[in-house]
Amino acid sequence: MLERPKRKNPILRTRLPTLPPAARSRVALGLTAAAALGRFELQQCPDCGTVQYPPREACQNCLSINLSWKVQSSDGELLAETVLHHSNDLFFRERLPWRLGYIKLDSGPTVVAHLHGSIQGIPTKVRVRAMLDRAGQAVLVALPDKETPNMADDRQLREFTCDPKFRKVLITDGKSAVGQHLTKSFAKAGADLIWVGYAEPWKKFAGFEELAKLPQVTLLPLDITDSRNVREVAAEIGGKVDILISNAEHHRAFGIGNRPGVETARAEMDVNYFGLLRLAQEFGPALRSRGADGQSSAVAWVNLLSVYAHANFPPHGTFSASKAAAHSLAQCLRAEMRPSGVRVVNIFPGPIDDEWNQLLPPPKVAPAALAGAVVRALQDGIEDVYPGDVAQEWLARWRDNPKALERELSS
Ligand SMILES: [Zn+2]
Repeated sequence: MLERPKRKNPILRTRLPTLPPAARSRVALGLTAAAALGRFELQQCPDCGTVQYPPREACQNCLSINLSWKVQSSDGELLAETVLHHSNDLFFRERLPWRLGYIKLDSGPTVVAHLHGSIQGIPTKVRVRAMLDRAGQAVLVALPDKETPNMADDRQLREFTCDPKFRKVLITDGKSAVGQHLTKSFAKAGADLIWVGYAEPWKKFAGFEELAKLPQVTLLPLDITDSRNVREVAAEIGGKVDILISNAEHHRAFGIGNRPGVETARAEMDVNYFGLLRLAQEFGPALRSRGADGQSSAVAWVNLLSVYAHANFPPHGTFSASKAAAHSLAQCLRAEMRPSGVRVVNIFPGPIDDEWNQLLPPPKVAPAALAGAVVRALQDGIEDVYPGDVAQEWLARWRDNPKALERELSS
């Protein structure tokens, strides 16, 4: 079981981040794309039905090139295991010993996977998942067949997840319903310390002051539209934040024709886009420098985006545009954070059940469900999250045909 980390000795140097081997062929990135969504997909041949791994250009059985990625059963049997005590790779050399196993999947292929510590004995049933490693590439990880106590604490598994347990979290805009539920969810998930940012102290929100009663919580004045304030807060706590949740958003339901002027659109951009940019500029370097800082290193940056970032929803047109801008910036941030191993996690909810979506019919994502999805994504090591039925349906339609979705949304 994981123990609470001791206070850091400020005289010791912080280990520089290293990454596991990251080179992949273009076809192998299919595994990464599915793992980013938390799916276990392998190449399957529609002509002869063969499931294969590792990914290749053609079917190993019939040489067909019509391969497609299909969700596969995670069940398999561990046939052999080995423990690495030496490695020429810097990343693994700093993490030895390291267990690997040879697994026959029920779907057909035999694969090499990283082994969870509680898998014991051969042969034994295991579950295999495709997970992103610190370089952001998919690898296979074998978990025990059934849940074991404190499973998430496993030293090797923690290299693939962003578990909040014993980590320090900053949440921007703790006043919103989502912000309040995020705070409670992170406290429940074992976060060591939670800074809850808030702006406009004269505005009262039901439930917000109650958060201060949670022992992990520190309320912190933080206005992400104020560059100087963001810089000052980053100077104060930036070096300690392990997980940053960019949660603040400005949302009004307007298109173009039903609102004169640009004030509302500008306010949305100032929070949703420039707010993220200010945070990234001030907190990004500090998180990057601590990507390998021991058991509770800096590990994740979470952005509350919207499924409207992919396709504009005209009744919320300017809001959609600001989220599209934020999504693009988040991709830049992801690329810049990658060398440090800090993962950028994007959340794409459908309409949230809040005051700005009053006129939309259900289903809507409840703030508590959204907060739970964020914590689970970190625990599971997922990079792109679509919480709720609406977001899942939009994702499927957008992947199938983005132009058709655009047309459907405009009627
Ligand atoms: Zn085939």
